[in-house]
Amino acid sequence: MHEMKRTATCGELDAAAAGTQVTLNGWVARIRDHGGITFLDLRDRYGLTQVVFDVSGEAQDALAAAVGGLKLEYCVAVQGTVRRRPPDMVNPELATGAIEVAGEQLVVLSTCATLPFMVSDQAGAHTEAREELRLKHRYLDLRSATMQRNLALRHHAAQAMREALNSCRFLEIETPTLMRSTPEGARDFVVPSRLNPGSFYALPQSPQILKQLLMLSGCDRYYQLARCYRDEDARGDRQPEFTQLDFEMTFVDQDDVLEVLEAAFAAAFRDGIGHELPLPFPRIPFHDAMNRYGSDRPDLRFELELRDFTELARAGDFGIFKKAAERGDTVKALRAPGLAGYSRRQVEELEEHAKTYGAAGLAWMKCGADGLESGVSRFYQAQQAEIYRALDAEPGDLLLLVAAPWRTACTALGAVRTELARREGLAAAGVFKPCFVTDFPLFAWNEEEQRWDAEHHMFSNPQAQYLDSLEQDPAAVRGELYDAVINGVELASGSIRIHDPALQRRVFAILGVSEEEAAQRFGFMLDAFRYGPPPHGGAAIGFDRTVMLMAGEATIRDVIAFPKNTWAASPMDNSPARLDTHQLAELHLQVRPTADS
Ligand code: ASP
Repeated sequence: MHEMKRTATCGELDAAAAGTQVTLNGWVARIRDHGGITFLDLRDRYGLTQVVFDVSGEAQDALAAAVGGLKLEYCVAVQGTVRRRPPDMVNPELATGAIEVAGEQLVVLSTCATLPFMVSDQAGAHTEAREELRLKHRYLDLRSATMQRNLALRHHAAQAMREALNSCRFLEIETPTLMRSTPEGARDFVVPSRLNPGSFYALPQSPQILKQLLMLSGCDRYYQLARCYRDEDARGDRQPEFTQLDFEMTFVDQDDVLEVLEAAFAAAFRDGIGHELPLPFPRIPFHDAMNRYGSDRPDLRFELELRDFTELARAGDFGIFKKAAERGDTVKALRAPGLAGYSRRQVEELEEHAKTYGAAGLAWMKCGADGLESGVSRFYQAQQAEIYRALDAEPGDLLLLVAAPWRTACTALGAVRTELARREGLAAAGVFKPCFVTDFPLFAWNEEEQRWDAEHHMFSNPQAQYLDSLEQDPAAVRGELYDAVINGVELASGSIRIHDPALQRRVFAILGVSEEEAAQRFGFMLDAFRYGPPPHGGAAIGFDRTVMLMAGEATIRDVIAFPKNTWAASPMDNSPARLDTHQLAELHLQVRPTADS
């Protein structure tokens, strides 16, 4: 290696280096043979440099043979002289586009087998089959400029968040991966204990309990880039293991935590992609977010606000809506500016989105030059002026309406809102609109099991004004709960925690967690909370998703070095894998045969 060890990277040479002798090490990204003159793009993490071998001369046989034998992705060392490119060959897109290296020596450091795919030919849209292949050979996939950029962005974002918290007196403290079940509400991944036959560790769904214990320990401010594990069914863009920037603080209120979240996001966006997020983030109470955007993670890049139509529906002649209003349901309206030209087919497509979220249908009418037209407009002729005023409607608008119980009506029309924005290209790339959603309900009714679940997790504090009425009306209770949302993606969530054991017992009781179950699952925590627990609160940032958003990628897999596929498997190392009988015996395990084994 010695004499061919690199003196420069493939991303740094510019016109100022012209005339110097350099050695570059890297991979062959492209070869173009122009009969006697061969152009080579040499790639490393830092960029691409064009190398030109002129082997037309007679004394060049050895070099000609070496160059002729090159294939894509060979790992090579090149020595040569930097020279300016002729003016018509300058490539302003490339950092090194002003120069090329006249190659004088070439050493092949290693060859490359037949490639399963072209390394430089990927970015963005991958089919699923192709992604399997990329994941199988992830080490090759990561050579591409896009993936290198994503990994670097991730690194910068992580360091920036760390710095932001360090400067607020936080300590980075690690917590164990082998532990007891935690309360985030998903299934646990478990690890059998060889030393304790029949016993299992659970991998943490988050460091929630441990960070709360650290507050009790007097650590005051803790954070960790924590790996979390949740065994959930493949749905959406999830990974069985993912990373959170997890933090917790003592003697604080909600505003203090939100400020830290703002600082962490601002730093990550600044150092990651050079973007200044507008501070402070607007705060939207949950109820308003649902009413105005039909979502508890509103995308604020576009307006399209929902309006209430219930009173207009009650006064109107459309029987279905009238009855809904009388029943106590909500009728919501969405004004789609200038979209009166939508065809029946297009409206039906929007209706499918509303139905997916539980609406029975999507009613519509159009604002024509002479008033309301088509759809359900004949029922509302008498109220035209009122409707125009209530919805700020103008000729050329399309009005979309949903009637259902409040949350369903909001959510269903919210889905239509998002779909409309997608179709109309309103959700612009490169624009980032953050907000906090606050005042979430503490409890969510679980219809299937006819009981209350924690909306967030069971250690979150109810707001003070509900303390006397928790048991009487759980549905009305709002918590000191908050989410951070950017562009419709939930990127963080947290709460002020319960630190009063008596209150914790009341919340457990509403959630149907018996004393025995609480003792069995969280006994160590309840025990600890007898020893002077301080008021505390915190949050966790979904780090993968934050980086995904910054990178403009559509899946978190593209910002994780070695992700699992959608079936929670890794095609590269073939995990999960079976154990041999010896290992099973050592772990005191027996595998039950299944139909396909
Ligand atoms: N542990 C919570 C979660 O993972 C975040 C928090 O409350 O700090 O969602």
